[in-house]
Amino acid sequence: MIRVVVPGAAGRMGRMVIEALVETPGVTLSAAVERPGHPQVGHELLGISVGENLAQALEQADVFIDFTTPTASTRAVALAAEHGVAAVIGTTGFDSAEEAAIGAAATRIPIVKAANFSTGVSVLLELVNRAARALGPAFDPEVLEIHHKAKRDAPSGTALALGEAIASGRDLSFAEARRASREGEIGPRREGEIGLAALRGGDVVGEHTVFFLGQSERIELSHRATSRAIFAQGAVRAAVWVVGKPPGLYTMRHVLGLA
Ligand code: NAD
Repeated sequence: MIRVVVPGAAGRMGRMVIEALVETPGVTLSAAVERPGHPQVGHELLGISVGENLAQALEQADVFIDFTTPTASTRAVALAAEHGVAAVIGTTGFDSAEEAAIGAAATRIPIVKAANFSTGVSVLLELVNRAARALGPAFDPEVLEIHHKAKRDAPSGTALALGEAIASGRDLSFAEARRASREGEIGPRREGEIGLAALRGGDVVGEHTVFFLGQSERIELSHRATSRAIFAQGAVRAAVWVVGKPPGLYTMRHVLGLA
């Protein structure tokens, strides 16, 4: 049995991950953890008592699945590296220092980190990369994402991953090509720009469309998630895959055998 710890257990994704774990053979939820002081601590959630001591929980675990906040995830990865526990990170919105800390931890433990754990988005990333390469500079790439109104970060981690996929297909530096907002006298579109636009509202689970805008024609590649269950199921699949792997930073491409 693979023993799994779930921090952020009371969150939107944490609850879905616990439900997915219950339905998956060969894995067991060894601890559900929340931030100290969370009203759910000490109470039962889907049949398991919620604790607040992640370090203690990791002593009895093979892997943890984390959908929390960038600060909490970065701390959790450092603790997991001390305990030799594998990690599955779904949190988005890391800054460059946090990304570097996760990269450093990946020299000690195997980590799967993905901005989107759905199989559909993993395939979309491949399609977008190929389309960008085939279409070339004659088509202007733009990414549009829509999410529920509680989402904290923008553009979404998935939109950024799509931008990276376009940049790699076009042999561009994404850091230089990205254009995350337009307002006022912006002038004509720069050559090689990758636009990113974010809409927020309602309960939208996650929608992403990549436009390739050409002369007299355009291509649109879209993914629409209608339930968080797909992300939770993908994360559990990643957890089963990552236990026993050598230290390193992996993505869903590795888990799905696309890498
Ligand atoms: P949420 O706010 O509903 O849940 C986050 C939970 O983390 C909360 O319950 C919070 O109390 C808990 N938490 C905060 N600090 C903690 C700590 N130190 N220890 C333990 N728990 C802590 O948010 P959500 O909608 O579940 O999203 C969480 C993250 O997952 C976001 O970054 C979101 O963008 C990302 N996300 C990723 C995917 C994907 O497929 N990779 C899919 C959906 C959401």
